Amino acid sequence: MNIHVSQPYLGLNESKNVNKALNETAISGFYGEFIPKFEKGFAEYSDCKFGVTTTSGTTALHLAIAALGLTKGDEVLVSTLTNMATFFAVLYSGAIPIPIDIKNDTLNINPNLLEDKINKKTKAIIVVHLFGHPVDMEPVVKISKKYNLFLIEDCAQAHGATYKGQKVGSFGDIGCFSFYANKIITTGEGGMITTNNEDIAVKASTLKSLAFGVNNKFMHKDIGYNYRMTNLQAAIGCGQLKKINEIIELKRNIAEYYSNKFQDLDFVQLPLEKPYVKSVFWMYHIVLKDKLMHKRNEIMKDLKQNGIETREGFIPYNMQEIFINRGWVKMEACPRANKVAFSSFYLPSGPSLSAEELEYISEKFIKIITAFN
Ligand SMILES: *Cc1c(COP(=O)(O)O)cnc(C)c1O
Repeated sequence: MNIHVSQPYLGLNESKNVNKALNETAISGFYGEFIPKFEKGFAEYSDCKFGVTTTSGTTALHLAIAALGLTKGDEVLVSTLTNMATFFAVLYSGAIPIPIDIKNDTLNINPNLLEDKINKKTKAIIVVHLFGHPVDMEPVVKISKKYNLFLIEDCAQAHGATYKGQKVGSFGDIGCFSFYANKIITTGEGGMITTNNEDIAVKASTLKSLAFGVNNKFMHKDIGYNYRMTNLQAAIGCGQLKKINEIIELKRNIAEYYSNKFQDLDFVQLPLEKPYVKSVFWMYHIVLKDKLMHKRNEIMKDLKQNGIETREGFIPYNMQEIFINRGWVKMEACPRANKVAFSSFYLPSGPSLSAEELEYISEKFIKIITAFN
């Protein structure tokens, strides 16, 4: 056995589309039917009016920040436990990210901690729907309105997830998605922003393509970027969009299978689903507690020896040495996130896992965990 942590779920639709784009020589980010088709289709799927494709989730986040005009000295409240791309995107603009600690159960941002960090310089909030479980959006939206803050959702792990029946990416000013190979749907590398605000959509479309002029193309309107997704990537995206609901169901089934098998294990915190959300269970992410807390690396090693690939959980912003060494943040800033930083990991969660593989992984996992107990 050699089981990958995740593999993309590709098929004939994707290859047909890519070949069509190739045969039409529509391979750049300027021409071809698939770019507008993917933008329109994915925006509609996400309960949004507009979609703007980008080269990655990271550039989607940066484009969102640039389109909202966030700049040097502005403060942005960000969930500390995330892929560091969320923080990097803020830093690219010269704005100052302020990490916010998480809730113990969902590992998402704790909305109760937001108001304490708001001051005159605060301009925006970025929430992250971690591992596909939506953030508790109602209090976050309320606070963003009360203090007139922009709200950005990092949906890179949560395509199609819903909060009280509404899709993520449609709650704030801008939603940011990634289509990296291990995300819910993929274009290899790629990203998109979603919005219901036409001005933001226009601004983002301009900025992502070098801010070319309208009457005079090379009289630029702004300091632009080249964040254009190619028509070849969008061709894959259009194929993937057709099976996004199938992929989400497969992910949910995998999570249900694991959770049934593991429900009696001690010292293991399993992913959950709050009654008011539909999670897409991007990855089956586990937190080891108490006795097992410091055994993470050994457990991962034992799984590896049995042919089961796993991946460590994220390390929060406030534990990143590069930021602590610069004096930008103190390690103790977010104690709850620190507790999971080195004691979490995820099991194989790709949509193409077979029933035999799932059974094999579960058996080995239970055996290994029990031996450590
Ligand atoms: C993957 C990811 C990103 C970055 O997306 P890329 O496409 O890899 O640049 C940003 N935020 C989160 C939460 C992610 O999971």
